[in-house]
Amino acid sequence: MNKAILVVEDEPKLASLLADYLRASGFEPSCLDNGSDVVPWVKENRPELILLDLMLPGRDGMEVCKDIRTFSRIPIIMVTARIEEIDRLLGLELGADDYICKPFSPREVIARVKAVLRRTQDGQAIEAAGLVLDEPRWRASLDGSDLELTAVEFKLLQFLFANPGRIYKRQQLMDRIYPDERIVSERTIDSHIKKLRRKIENANPEARLIHSVYGVGYKFELE
Ligand code: CA
Repeated sequence: MNKAILVVEDEPKLASLLADYLRASGFEPSCLDNGSDVVPWVKENRPELILLDLMLPGRDGMEVCKDIRTFSRIPIIMVTARIEEIDRLLGLELGADDYICKPFSPREVIARVKAVLRRTQDGQAIEAAGLVLDEPRWRASLDGSDLELTAVEFKLLQFLFANPGRIYKRQQLMDRIYPDERIVSERTIDSHIKKLRRKIENANPEARLIHSVYGVGYKFELE
């Protein structure tokens, strides 16, 4: 099981204290000290949980949290230096899973991390015909092997999986995958689908899950 935890904290001493405690509890911590680095890092590394400080150089924790929620349900624990901030944060409905106030004991943080992981791990994976989509962690496996998908590939598979048998035009898939209306060509979708199929095939050479519909687009079917 992946136990990667991202600690976003700009006070180096606190970050290394948390990292030590997390390591001692069997987790694999990584630390970032700038808010601007978080979203790209999370997209690339897909940690199990994020401890996110509120006040950060670069981008503040609130913005970062909101941004992460546009593409992932990964558990987030917000850390703030002021207890009165917590009420305000709760009111903003950022989508964080828990809040911790500084100063805290590292032991308390570990307990909260474990509690949030227990809570969020229940019943969030969807499964059919050997294909498991673990949505909070953006992980997909087929017949027990991890497909090691990128974020875009995961979103594509997740969308197609949720709508089996339905034929989608490339444009419809693009609208789903790139809701920020970035200009992408239809070839981009083709290339993502191609990679996705290759990964599925590597896990199970017999699996034919994504079908091309000539002149139209793609559909997903479980055998
Ligand atoms: Ca801070």
